[in-house]
Amino acid sequence: MSASIRSQVANARTWVVKVGSALITADGQGLDVDRIDAWCEQIVAIGEAGRRVVVVSSGAVAEGRRRLGYGARAAAIHELAAAAAVGQSGLIEAYQRAFSRRGRDIAQVLLTHDDMADRQRYLNARATLATLLDLGITPVVNENDSVATDEIKLGDNDTLAAMVANLLAADVLVVLTDQAGLHQADPRLEPDAPLLGEASAADAGLDGMAGRGGGLGRGGMATKVAAARLAARSGAHTVIAGGREPRVLCRLASGEPLGTLLTADLAPLDARKRWLAGQLRAKGELRVDAGAAEAIRGSGVSILPAGVTAASGAFHRGDLVRVVDAEGGEIGKGLANYDAAETRRILGLRTTEIEAVLGFVGESELIHRDNLVVW
Ligand code: GLU
Repeated sequence: MSASIRSQVANARTWVVKVGSALITADGQGLDVDRIDAWCEQIVAIGEAGRRVVVVSSGAVAEGRRRLGYGARAAAIHELAAAAAVGQSGLIEAYQRAFSRRGRDIAQVLLTHDDMADRQRYLNARATLATLLDLGITPVVNENDSVATDEIKLGDNDTLAAMVANLLAADVLVVLTDQAGLHQADPRLEPDAPLLGEASAADAGLDGMAGRGGGLGRGGMATKVAAARLAARSGAHTVIAGGREPRVLCRLASGEPLGTLLTADLAPLDARKRWLAGQLRAKGELRVDAGAAEAIRGSGVSILPAGVTAASGAFHRGDLVRVVDAEGGEIGKGLANYDAAETRRILGLRTTEIEAVLGFVGESELIHRDNLVVW
């Protein structure tokens, strides 16, 4: 185990702490206000020791379902949206009470996928969160589930928390869950599987260890691993730890090796590329040949028409597209310089031939390297 990374976590300035639905609602029995109070006490304590903490809290839908008497029955989308609105007010009230008791304020911040996809709104959200932290106020973030339908949803708060970590270039993402961390096999299938202490977030072996989600929250260990990978691209280490563990946040802040540490090993992306890396919904796909794939992976070059063999989807100039290799493996994603129809007309051409085909002078690249994130 790497003591130095655990101590980096302990001494990190900006933390994003994600609290899952099963944990916060005591498995759907209603908000566990005592536990919320205990986490808030710890957040205030680690904040007083100089850390900036953003909370990403689930539980709105679960609490709303309970208050509206839906139980575990399947509910329609509009009923879930209503449940989210009802539950969110209870959730935020519980946080506000716990912080007020300690003379501190919180701020409710509700985000949607579109807020993250639009660069201006993304920058606005970043400025708001940074201002709140500067004011010593703890933002409590959730997805705005009462307006986001399934097609436009981020879907799970693990992803939302990673995006918030990415937005703020946080140092640490702590995912509090109802398990002690990530086990070396899905504990639902292998109950004795030992806990994984530490791995690189990029380690492909993690996928086999992460099982599926439970009934209450949207995410399972697989979304937590994906979230750790996204957070790692902005330089944040992730700790997946048991939220029922006494004083878990304070103990992590004192360097105790609790839970599973997933480390960020790659150089962090710059601010614009962090935003790009967090984009989830591509409008199309460019397939590149082997030579182009190697050049893109190796030295982060731009994507030229000459190296592209196919373009699919209905994207417009400026839209996000995936870049895949000849076998369909994702290499990265970036913003297209041409519409899909134009792109298809210039595939395989040399840069000097573009104007004659399209009848206008455009960019010489299909995706400029500044607008391209490579995995
Ligand atoms: N945003 C949802 C809620 O507050 C939770 C999503 C999740 O479980 O990840 O109820």
